[in-house]
Amino acid sequence: MLLEVFIIIGEGMLLLRRSFTKKMEVNGDLFSALITAIVSFVSEIQMGDVRKFETGNKQILIYPHEKIVIVGIVDEKHEDEHIYKSLKMIGEEFSKKYEKTLSNWTGELDPFCEFTRTLDEIVYSNFAEEYISKDFPNNVIRSVKKFQTKFQNEIMYFMGSKAGRKRASLLKNPKNFKKRLQKELNLFSINKIKEESENELLIEVPLCPFCRKIKNKEFSCDFFMGFIAGFASKSLGKKNIQVKEIHCSAHGDETCTFLLKTN
Ligand SMILES: [Zn+2]
Repeated sequence: MLLEVFIIIGEGMLLLRRSFTKKMEVNGDLFSALITAIVSFVSEIQMGDVRKFETGNKQILIYPHEKIVIVGIVDEKHEDEHIYKSLKMIGEEFSKKYEKTLSNWTGELDPFCEFTRTLDEIVYSNFAEEYISKDFPNNVIRSVKKFQTKFQNEIMYFMGSKAGRKRASLLKNPKNFKKRLQKELNLFSINKIKEESENELLIEVPLCPFCRKIKNKEFSCDFFMGFIAGFASKSLGKKNIQVKEIHCSAHGDETCTFLLKTN
């Protein structure tokens, strides 16, 4: 998985840094040294190529695109196609969006902040596409379990919502949303869905696949929450969907229980 992305220009000026994990992976002097190393490495790379080098247990992927260089930090040795694809798309989108800004750039960083949203979209749309395409949902469960405690909660939620939307887009519009949702969530684990009120569903999952074996009061099943929200939002064609986890097995509760508000 991509842990962090940064975009640099010229002699190593940092334009944007986006970390997806709770703790930043590289800091201070190490970070400056890394940028210097990348800049000297870039001249050896052909445009359009992704190159990598390893430091410790991390892989650094480098993709030069026109005036900028996109760098991805990855924590596994194996290479995911969707990561390469994401870095390329980030390079293209960023260059297109900031073409004018970069041609007479005066050192201001503010204009680039808003690109974070686009960057997240690219990375997690590609993630959803790839991870859902094979062995669903086992592949997703396996991967999410591996990295969910390391990533920021809102990133896990966002990742889940992208996956949920993608799944819903593969299915025909459901006549009965409750049934459709139950059938979909049954792929993850058996569940019970109760209607709390006209716009509220209570979803109980006694054997949540994401928090099995986790005992931690701070933990929540953010990916699953996001998945339900994304699935509901796409299926119902509504933007304002809220999902809250009101009980969680990781806290010692009997079930993971989610409240879905669709108004
Ligand atoms: Zn839970």
